[in-house]
Amino acid sequence: MAGELYVCATPIGNLEDITLRALRILGEAHLIAAEDTQRTRVLLAHYDIAAPLISYNEHNRKQRLPVIMEKLKEGGKVVLVSDAGTPGIADPGPMLVAEARKRGFPVIPLPGPSALSTALSICGLGMTQFTFTGFLPRRAGERERLLMELRQSGRGVVCYESPHRIEAALASLAKVWPDAKVAFLRELTKIYEEVLVGSPGQIAAELKARPRRGEMVLVIEGDRDGGQERTFSQEQIREKVVVLMEVMDKKQAIKEAAAELGIPKRIVYRAVIDLPGRGKMG
Ligand code: SAM
Repeated sequence: MAGELYVCATPIGNLEDITLRALRILGEAHLIAAEDTQRTRVLLAHYDIAAPLISYNEHNRKQRLPVIMEKLKEGGKVVLVSDAGTPGIADPGPMLVAEARKRGFPVIPLPGPSALSTALSICGLGMTQFTFTGFLPRRAGERERLLMELRQSGRGVVCYESPHRIEAALASLAKVWPDAKVAFLRELTKIYEEVLVGSPGQIAAELKARPRRGEMVLVIEGDRDGGQERTFSQEQIREKVVVLMEVMDKKQAIKEAAAELGIPKRIVYRAVIDLPGRGKMG
């Protein structure tokens, strides 16, 4: 019999969030390839499942691939699980799936929870169209450029975040999209599950008083007129830049005004092209 690769969703917190089919297949597995073996061991122990387990993560995936392919060649049932939720969403799953399919092994989904769909289901924001970013870029400039593009796309946004980067993410959002309607969802399906809805500034202020812990997702409602260029008169744009130039140089003031007004830099640049390059730094 040909081997089969099962791509199995596991709970994102509450261990009861697993399908009957997933439990049966995990019990029958010849090998479970887990992103985080410790977390998977807890799940398997909870359901009394004893199956061989190896780690498969972004650091060792190249070395692990031949071992997993060998098991499939022997006709084994291999189950891929991520640290939590559905494999293939912001994790190293796709490489294994692509390789198994390339070699002609059936790839079978075992659907179930994901932080993405769980967050969308209870965020309460209108999200008919959205972009999923996974984790936002680490560098502030890159992050802000991306958030600005997303704002201008007019679509909603879903991002995964971590406790040590949430503050920076909200600060970037407050800069380029200050009036965004944001849902912050933490520890979904766990004891300390919480949902905050507000502007980036309001959520950042709320989080200041709380411990910086847990797994979290940000959902941002689409900016309905973000797809079109906002209409500000030349005079309004100039006024904004002139005020900013009291505390920064012209180049920075153009960048800042574009971010604050939510319009492309080139529009601001054109509106102030004749302004002398004075300001704090010349
Ligand atoms: N593949 C997984 C899925 O389907 O959700 C996600 C893997 S990704 C590497 C891990 C990220 O998912 C976390 O950093 C966090 O942003 C989000 N996440 C996972 N579990 C969560 C939970 N219980 N509550 C909120 N976010 C969660």
